[in-house]
Amino acid sequence: MVHVGIGYDVHALVAGRKLILGGVEIPHTKGLDGHSDADALMHAICDAVLGALGEEDIGHFFPNTDPRWKGAPSKVFLAEAARQVAKRKGKIVNVDATVIAQQPKIYPHIDGMKKRIAAALGVSEKQIGVKATTNEKMGFVGREEGIAAMAVASVDLPL
Ligand code: MG
Repeated sequence: MVHVGIGYDVHALVAGRKLILGGVEIPHTKGLDGHSDADALMHAICDAVLGALGEEDIGHFFPNTDPRWKGAPSKVFLAEAARQVAKRKGKIVNVDATVIAQQPKIYPHIDGMKKRIAAALGVSEKQIGVKATTNEKMGFVGREEGIAAMAVASVDLPL
């Protein structure tokens, strides 16, 4: 039976951090702040996959108080979500995600993001959708104070 999950994440943009989204380092004047590499896109996808399993969220599996995850590449979180799917003899059907960022331009990096997300989840790039939009200069995203991401995942699980 196919189960669907949803995920959302946001991190603040600050000076002195690398900007990592979908596992891609994007040249920019600011980066996302957080305990791990703060990859909001991978975090949203992780929560979508965990949500499809009816599991608790990424913060439950990887508390931001745990020094093991300090500066951790978020692909390890996706790999764990995929492991949870495999543990239930399930299969990820597809993932679709949207990055909401006023700056920088995300589009040139989308293919790279799809590759890295697919590799971390152990699926084909054809199963991964990544899109991007600005926030039309409105709100915290529009003021370039942060970047948000939302995702859905469908997972086929045995009855
Ligand atoms: Mg996060």
